[in-house]
Amino acid sequence: MKDLFDKGVISLNIILIGPPGAGKGTQASLIANKYNLPFVSSGDLFREHRKLGTKLGLLAEKYMNQGELVPDHVTIDMVMNWLDQNKGGSSGFLLDGFPRTVQQATSLEKALGNANPVGPAVYINVDKDELLRRLTGRRVCMRCQISFHIHSNPPLIQDQCDKCSKPLAQREDDNFDAVEARLDAYRRNTEPLVAYYDHQNVLIEIDGNETIRQVSKDIVESLDCFN
Ligand SMILES: [Zn+2]
Repeated sequence: MKDLFDKGVISLNIILIGPPGAGKGTQASLIANKYNLPFVSSGDLFREHRKLGTKLGLLAEKYMNQGELVPDHVTIDMVMNWLDQNKGGSSGFLLDGFPRTVQQATSLEKALGNANPVGPAVYINVDKDELLRRLTGRRVCMRCQISFHIHSNPPLIQDQCDKCSKPLAQREDDNFDAVEARLDAYRRNTEPLVAYYDHQNVLIEIDGNETIRQVSKDIVESLDCFN
C-alpha cells in the first residue's frame, strides 16, 4: 500500500474515530505528519469559523446559542471548504471527530463524490474501565490552574499543588458520573458509525488500551496494509 500511496495512485481519506480519552488528537497529528496529510478536528473548524466570523461560523453560533445541534449541512460545508483550501497536492486527508453519526457519514460521502471515497476509518477502541481511569484522574489547582493526573502525571505530594502547595481538586466535569454519562452517550452514537464503516470494509480497529507509542505503531502498521 505504502508504495502506491507514495506514488499518489491511492489516497488515504482517513476518518479518525475514538472516545474521549482515547488520545485521538495526539494520534491524528502523528498520522498526519507521517503520511503528509492535511488534518483538522471538527472542534478546530468550529472555533476557526467563529473566530473569523464567517457566514458558516455565524450560522453555527446561532444554533449553538439556541442550545441546538449544528445541522449537518453546515458542518459539511465547513469540511468541504477546508478541503478546498488545504488538500493541495496531497493524496488524502485526515478528519478527527467528524463524521460522528451515520447520517453525517453519508452526507460526507455525497459531498466528496464517488471519485473520492472515504477510507480507512480508524477506530481507536478503548475499554470503558480504562477510559474512566484516564478521564477521572485529573486534579487541578484552583489557585494556579495547573493540572495533574493521579496516574500519568501525579503531584510530588499527594493531593497538593507542586507550585503553591494548595490542595488539588477534581473538576465537576471529571467526576465519575459525569464521565460515565459522556462515555455512554458517545458509545450510543458511535457504535452504528463503526458498524457502518465495517460493513463498507474500510474499518481499521485499533486496541487503544495500549500506550500512545504502541497505539501509534499499530495504526501505522494497519495503514500500511490498507488497500
Ligand atoms: Zn497551585
